[in-house]
Amino acid sequence: MSSKIQKPLPRVDELHRPFWEAARRHELVLQRCRKCASYRYPAGPTCPECVSDELEWTRVSGRGTVFTWTVFHRAYHPAFADEVPYAVVAVELVEGPRMLTNLLDCLPADIKIGMPVEVVFEDVTEEIRLPKFRPVSR
Ligand SMILES: [Zn+2]
Repeated sequence: MSSKIQKPLPRVDELHRPFWEAARRHELVLQRCRKCASYRYPAGPTCPECVSDELEWTRVSGRGTVFTWTVFHRAYHPAFADEVPYAVVAVELVEGPRMLTNLLDCLPADIKIGMPVEVVFEDVTEEIRLPKFRPVSR
């Protein structure tokens, strides 16, 4: 029954459109400041380091490591009822920013801080492909 309930989807607004358009191509892009070259995520209109509003969307490696994680044992939305317990993971990209995401092909008991991961895209709808991660061996 719960599998018929739709999970909430991200709303694609003007600020985030380049991120979601790249995700449709299975590419991970982040905003990079043209002035100080720092990457940022989530997206914003100005650089948190130098306050410049000159930015470019830049494709990043899609590689990183597990910074931390937690396991949800309770469904806070009915569409997730079939998935508990599931892990929500903070991945630190090699470019610096951290993304909240899920790990595929990995049980919560097997997650370790510092484990190397790479991005993989989950095709949810025609418009939305969610960046998730999976373990890699280095
Ligand atoms: Zn900057």
